[in-house]
Amino acid sequence: MAQLTFLGSCREIGRSGFHLEVNKESFLVDFGVKFGNPPAFPDMVPTENLQGVAITHAHLDHSGGVPIVLAKDAALSLFCTPATRDLCLPLIRDMYKISRGRLPFSNNDIVRVRRQCQPTAYEQTTPIGRKFEMTLFNAGHIPGSSMVSIRYNSKRILFTGDFNSTESRLNPGARKNLPKHDIVVTESTYARRVNPNREEIEEAMIQTVLETLERGGIALIPAFAVGRSQEIMCILEKHGIPKKYPIFVDGMARKVNDVVVKHPEYISSPQSFERAIHRTRVVHDNRDRQFAIKKPGIIIAPAGMLKGGASHLYFKMLYDNPKNSIILVSFQIPGTPGAVLMAKRKVTIGSREFDVKADVRYHHLSSHADSKGLLDMLLNIPGDPKFYLVHGESESCEALATKLEKKGRRAHIPETNEIAEV
Ligand SMILES: [Zn+2]
Repeated sequence: MAQLTFLGSCREIGRSGFHLEVNKESFLVDFGVKFGNPPAFPDMVPTENLQGVAITHAHLDHSGGVPIVLAKDAALSLFCTPATRDLCLPLIRDMYKISRGRLPFSNNDIVRVRRQCQPTAYEQTTPIGRKFEMTLFNAGHIPGSSMVSIRYNSKRILFTGDFNSTESRLNPGARKNLPKHDIVVTESTYARRVNPNREEIEEAMIQTVLETLERGGIALIPAFAVGRSQEIMCILEKHGIPKKYPIFVDGMARKVNDVVVKHPEYISSPQSFERAIHRTRVVHDNRDRQFAIKKPGIIIAPAGMLKGGASHLYFKMLYDNPKNSIILVSFQIPGTPGAVLMAKRKVTIGSREFDVKADVRYHHLSSHADSKGLLDMLLNIPGDPKFYLVHGESESCEALATKLEKKGRRAHIPETNEIAEV
């Protein structure tokens, strides 16, 4: 038998972490952060018998705590795709900088992510210790994202991480026809949601952008640095925004672009991304920002929910002109400035309330499977696996459990630190 401990992301989104133990050898999948004051991490596990740690993808809710684990043992290996390694490094550094040293690891521990990493390609099977074999499959969520499949004893367990079965302008969809599994630990983020057709959302977004430009305004698109910013660039490139309107990219998205260019094998169309990069101007400093807001154009700037970063700087410069638009393109967590803005058109940032005159629009480009995508993917995994549902609010996990049970499948929603015999 093996023991699987659910360290986090139980009935919540954040601090993903799973510990699998088989006859005194163990393996970790993900060790992420949940943002808050202070940020929360999964409980640390004993490292004496730990054979390694894998991260599904670069988002900090999956990778942000990995330096804590690597710092415990310099001989411990980190397994992930090269793209995940290179994307999570700037994100962890940025988190460290913002936290002003209030994290349970030091700045020196961050370099361990590169030093202790054994870059692993998709579909390649790697023996780990004496008990495990690991294979990564493309998860289609962001560049380099993986599902982690582990064989132990005569069984096979799949950790889906975050996945998207639908191809986007940036990411090829998740691996189809997965092999037989006995256990599947799956995300449930959008188990209660149906995503509209992607082409229609893209066209609606382009329409908003063009209307803004034609009335002489600036379109500010707050977007996540990893994945969404690059996808927006590809969509704008694909739809041929007239050359007279410049497209600017600011903040962490600039560094991420450099990483994605270095790993073209992880995106659906490297040529399209190259063209998008050439079409885009990089903003380096405040002088460039002043230039960017001088005439009609498009500005892509993290963070996606207007929670900080370069998007704040532009918001404060653009909010009071009705010619401008603020285009939100990702799910806005309740309580974030983006969510408040959509509901009220008034938003408090820092200590100041902004009465927003710019046009506010929402075009949701999801990088997760919706309820149909989740069910299609999960029901197609051979072997009648038992499902453990994580990475979703309680209601989402319960909705997915009900749907799976209706199809005669076994589903369980674990609590934090619950141990399952698998
Ligand atoms: Zn993610």
